[in-house]
Amino acid sequence: MQTVTKIILKSGKDDAVRRFHPWVFSGAIKKIEGPVYDGGLVEVFSNKDQYLATGLYQDASIAVRIMDFAPSRPGELGQDFWLKKLSAAYNLRAMLGMTDSESTNVYRLVHGEGDQLPGLIIDHYNGNLVVQAHAVGIHLNMKFIAQSLQQIYGSKLKSIYYKSSDTLPGNFVSEKSTEGFLFGDNPKEIVIENGHKFEIDYIRGQKTGFFIDQRENRQLLAHYSAGKKVLNTFCYSGGFSVYALKAGAAHVESLDSSKKAIELTEKNIELNFPGIANHEVIVADALQYIRENDQVRDVVVLDPPAFAKHTNVRHNAVQGYKRLNAEAIRKIAPGGILFTFSCSQVVNMGLFKSTVIAAAIQAGRQAKILHQMSQPADHPINAFHPEGEYLKGLVLYIE
Ligand code: SAH
Repeated sequence: MQTVTKIILKSGKDDAVRRFHPWVFSGAIKKIEGPVYDGGLVEVFSNKDQYLATGLYQDASIAVRIMDFAPSRPGELGQDFWLKKLSAAYNLRAMLGMTDSESTNVYRLVHGEGDQLPGLIIDHYNGNLVVQAHAVGIHLNMKFIAQSLQQIYGSKLKSIYYKSSDTLPGNFVSEKSTEGFLFGDNPKEIVIENGHKFEIDYIRGQKTGFFIDQRENRQLLAHYSAGKKVLNTFCYSGGFSVYALKAGAAHVESLDSSKKAIELTEKNIELNFPGIANHEVIVADALQYIRENDQVRDVVVLDPPAFAKHTNVRHNAVQGYKRLNAEAIRKIAPGGILFTFSCSQVVNMGLFKSTVIAAAIQAGRQAKILHQMSQPADHPINAFHPEGEYLKGLVLYIE
């Protein structure tokens, strides 16, 4: 076996790795034996020189992302490793009924730590894959990843687009090729989600092009939309609006602060309901708009971007959620419904719930929690990595 650089942990810092937590923080490292570079392969050892796991190194707060916990040391992460891991992710989606569905051909194939592939995101858009590296080690293995994906999808694969300029360290991005097609060349695709059509522009769109994680929550909105006046704020490409209109909403407004997002929404509305008259778009700041507008809506959707990316700004984020929710609750019709979300990983369901309840108190309205929502099964949560639970939502009945 070739010699792999050794990361030796401080005494007591091996517990998390033994519990299969996939991150080693830089503060847990006692000593590094051998050369290290960003993205390089390393083996993690306890303070007592016991082998624990194999991972990819990066000079950052998360210093090692563990890729393999098997006691038989892989020694390297070659083509076989990637094919096995990516096939496992594919097989899970097949079991969920997603790989061969006529009503939904958009799903997340790889959800980072949730699929034991920390730092890797892959979304599937009707035969097109968008791959995003959040760690240098993933970038360095991209050839293996792309080859494995071609093998798994075979003739069903139209393209693989690599989109990592926003997710890899800045200095790295300027030197390396972090954006572009790795296979095929198909810049846009029309996908189907629960029978609804969406045009995905992965090159110019936000994240990988679409917020796949809201699929089941959009379906839930449909149950509450028939005959209702719906305000969908932070609408991005109009996912919730399309479902509400299909369910027979009387009127839907889609609001986003980004003009580009509103253009995507308009396209998707036109794609599903050509010439429709009961849909309106608004380019505005959501909080300001709700505050200054006195129209009463039966159903309001609040799906803001993550307000807190780190624990040190969690307090401000909570204040932000409270202000936004209080304003929306104040304005909603009696008997109205609020769909409210947080995708801030550092704000957990308990904190989010108490924040929304505080908002209802501030607004002086009675509220009942009808549903508690989360992320769908193609965004699995690794049981040993609770940080992977990021999407939380509540459906409130406002009296
Ligand atoms: N609900 C969407 C995803 C929302 S992503 C879906 O189902 O696809 C968050 C969106 O909020 C982005 O489109 C972003 O442009 C928008 N946004 C960010 N800040 C905003 C603000 N202050 N007011 C309104 N929209 C905002």
